[in-house]
Amino acid sequence: MVSRTTDDYQRMAQAGCVAITEPAFWAGFDRSSAQGFYDYFRQLTDTEPKRAATYGINHHCWLCINPKEAEDVGFAHEVISIIPDFLENDNVLGIGEIGLNKNSKNELLILEEQLALAERTNQLVLVHTPHLEDKLKGTNLIMDAIDNTSLDPNRVLIDHVEEHTVRAVLERGFWAGMTLYPDSKCTPQRAADIIEMHGTERLWINSAGDWGPSDPLAVPKCRLELASRGHSDSLINTISYDNPLYFLSQSGKFSVE
Ligand SMILES: [Zn+2]
Repeated sequence: MVSRTTDDYQRMAQAGCVAITEPAFWAGFDRSSAQGFYDYFRQLTDTEPKRAATYGINHHCWLCINPKEAEDVGFAHEVISIIPDFLENDNVLGIGEIGLNKNSKNELLILEEQLALAERTNQLVLVHTPHLEDKLKGTNLIMDAIDNTSLDPNRVLIDHVEEHTVRAVLERGFWAGMTLYPDSKCTPQRAADIIEMHGTERLWINSAGDWGPSDPLAVPKCRLELASRGHSDSLINTISYDNPLYFLSQSGKFSVE
């Protein structure tokens, strides 16, 4: 929510949102030093929780260097070295969103190092899959990298799945997240189609709330879309509340109260 206004918090609270999780991500610009990430992590672990609490929303976050800024390996190492200082914070759920952006060699190297950090510190993992380059290839590369670790797939969410990647993710035992956007990538309508094709096991929805066109109310809009198609309250709650609650609670820190 770093790039969102307080109006968005208010609208989410009015729509019944009780808790959010915010990944460390690319903020729309490249940071010029590792110190920029140090301040970003302070914002994610201290400032945003206070801002969200004003609206009765529990704020949680994930920490990492995102793949888009991981091309410079030396820079990425500096950022990775400061992450452990923040992992003990009450609102930190794990390492994320790590993954691939252009499926490059350096991105893969930094992904592997951050998976090793999650392994060493027993963290949940949130994975970003490419929007622009080959998403299926990137998703498979990421899952292969995770399979080379001792990380339990049940503690990993592969996010931004779409029609052509969701099956592979679920078949390999991972959780799959559909990140909803208003009119590009996965819309609430497309997510409803995917749920109708694949069911609700280890699958859930989340709202993109970033610096580009995105909508923090995409989850309630998808709930309405499912209801308008005649789906049960039980299915709607599973995909938007119970499944995220189960997955995130594995951190021992996620709270909706
Ligand atoms: Zn992402």
